[in-house]
Amino acid sequence: MTCGALAAIEAGCETAFTVDASRVTFGRGALGEAGARARALGMRRAALFTDPRLRALPWSEEVRGSLAAAGVELAIYDAVAIEPTDASFEDAARFAADARVDGYVSLGGGSVIDTAKAANLYASHPAPLRAYVNVPAGDGRPVPGPLAPHLACPTTSGTGSEVTGIAIFDWVALGAKTGIASQRLRPSEAIVDPRCASTMPAEVVAASGMDVLCHALESYTARPYTRRAAPVPPTARPMSQGGNPWSDLGCREALRLLGAYLERAVRDATDEEARSQVMWAATLAGIAFGNAGVHAPHAMAYAVAGRVRDFRPAGYPDAPLVPHGMAVAVSAPAVVRYTGGTAPARHLEVAALLGADVRGAADADAGEVLAGELLRLMRAVAMPNGASGVGYGPDDIDGLVEGTLPQQRLLGNAPCELPREALAGLFSRALRYW
Ligand SMILES: [Zn+2]
Repeated sequence: MTCGALAAIEAGCETAFTVDASRVTFGRGALGEAGARARALGMRRAALFTDPRLRALPWSEEVRGSLAAAGVELAIYDAVAIEPTDASFEDAARFAADARVDGYVSLGGGSVIDTAKAANLYASHPAPLRAYVNVPAGDGRPVPGPLAPHLACPTTSGTGSEVTGIAIFDWVALGAKTGIASQRLRPSEAIVDPRCASTMPAEVVAASGMDVLCHALESYTARPYTRRAAPVPPTARPMSQGGNPWSDLGCREALRLLGAYLERAVRDATDEEARSQVMWAATLAGIAFGNAGVHAPHAMAYAVAGRVRDFRPAGYPDAPLVPHGMAVAVSAPAVVRYTGGTAPARHLEVAALLGADVRGAADADAGEVLAGELLRLMRAVAMPNGASGVGYGPDDIDGLVEGTLPQQRLLGNAPCELPREALAGLFSRALRYW
């Protein structure tokens, strides 16, 4: 569908976009507000979701102390899987149902926050797992009512899960990542304390930073909201409503900050300014993509991460896994080479915000210029050399395409059609870059 702007109303295209803003408290020391904020949300007995590694860090003790001081009793769940699965979501939901809590606090990366969202959902509105999971993997049933309050405290500068209504997991039997998407899943509020960034290993800063970059890049180059069919009723407008002036604001600033600070943040854990600014970029990009939606690199990433064989990245638990940000980054240069012609000015603007000199670049070069800047940055922060760098070869392309096709929510948000043959071409061009 390619509605022209003026013919939009006649063609039944969107003429409006919706802004869903999250309540966010950002700043050094903000974790100390956890107790007061949980109490203000009405919590008396909360489930605290975290992971075993975090329990050893000072942030966990600080949050538990703040909650205790505010009189919030805790049931602690620290068995969160590094990449959640259908089984780990169900386990967390059983815990939440048995714990008889009136609210949720999550402290950790995207996996922890997503697990708390799922536990809250299934404890609040019991149903088989597949009920609320996105079609075609699940039934895509709407969440029937509000959830219990959820205070999300991210400790990594990546997923933006604290400000989005999305929870991602690996459905093991299907061999693919899928998720649940609903406004009701969005945490009630978030506390983002950039001190947490100081305890992230460099490899995690690099991979999660590339995830942030792709949230901003993909939301900025997504199909514009004016080229989507208007929903009936209007309250059914999806979170992935396409690029719009609100999401553009956050994308531009996130990209500018990443261009200025990501390499510094990866190089030096003691560079407080750089790590704080990347954390702020993650929050901004999260708000942006929660209101616009990501597209092809994320759709392809679910297959790249979901089909991992024996890739074991440094800086992560010793298990075969492709970190989400790495899985997204390996496809991004191939995708922007392909989509550059759909909105050349935007692709060039992204390259310039990241630090490229785009003077004299022609529209026809936009995809190549942006791909070049992405590749420069990927090499600077030690990302793998395309999908071959995480263990895939030409024989895997059919499987990777099969794992991507179910991600229709994301593929539909791309600026151009991406049928099977196009995805196969993208994967083959994403195997190796240098
Ligand atoms: Zn992501």
